[in-house]
Amino acid sequence: MAEPTYELNVAHLYGDLMNTYGDYGNIIALRYYAEQIGVTINVSLVSLGDDFDPEKYDFVLFGGGQDYEETVVARDLKGKAKELKTYIEEDGPMLAVCGGFQLLGHYMEMADGTRVDGIGVMDHYTTNMTDDQVHTQKGKRLTGDITIKNNETGEEYHGFENHQGRTFLGQGERALGTVVSGQGNNGQDCSEGVIYNKVYGSYFHGPIFTRNGNLAKRVLADALVRKYPDVDWTAKLEKVPAETF
Ligand code: GLN
Repeated sequence: MAEPTYELNVAHLYGDLMNTYGDYGNIIALRYYAEQIGVTINVSLVSLGDDFDPEKYDFVLFGGGQDYEETVVARDLKGKAKELKTYIEEDGPMLAVCGGFQLLGHYMEMADGTRVDGIGVMDHYTTNMTDDQVHTQKGKRLTGDITIKNNETGEEYHGFENHQGRTFLGQGERALGTVVSGQGNNGQDCSEGVIYNKVYGSYFHGPIFTRNGNLAKRVLADALVRKYPDVDWTAKLEKVPAETF
């Protein structure tokens, strides 16, 4: 009998516009672990004017971008909001980094103070620097190395953050981790990132999966269990060491 074949279909949402600091590396990392357990990763770019079919994908990466790219993406994203909500509410696994994380919420305020609508499929929002800081971003961005701890799993994650937006979590959302060192979502409440259903959001570049193999494996397991529930993925993944940098 032929060996069963397993594959995951990945949507790289606006990968041609939102790919700050090589966020695509998250998919490379996912593939690195997937291949070791015999799983193929197929990647499709889903960008401006493309349909997003929630039934087609097993994992979505929505990377970070600068304010200008975010405004372009925000306009197009409205046309995909319903399908993305369906995907998220049906426990579709996703990683949303920085700008991508911001646009899933209600709104984000750019460095010049302009408010850009998100699609509100999650309850967070992102404010600007305080008034006296607008137009002088110097020293006001939340930039540098960051370490957080996820209190549910005890795992620590390491990365690099560079954002002016201050994100505040809302209903049904919990932080990806508590800030150990660095700034996090807003520099005030010690939260970093988000977990909502199977969506993981974060300000970490680096990329987060490359530097934190334990998180990459966790999300890979989410995607595999959802698609192939009869296979013991935990046992398979246990044999694969998680790389950390
Ligand atoms: N433009 C956003 C900010 O600075 C997002 C930046 C990013 O994605 N790196 O807040």
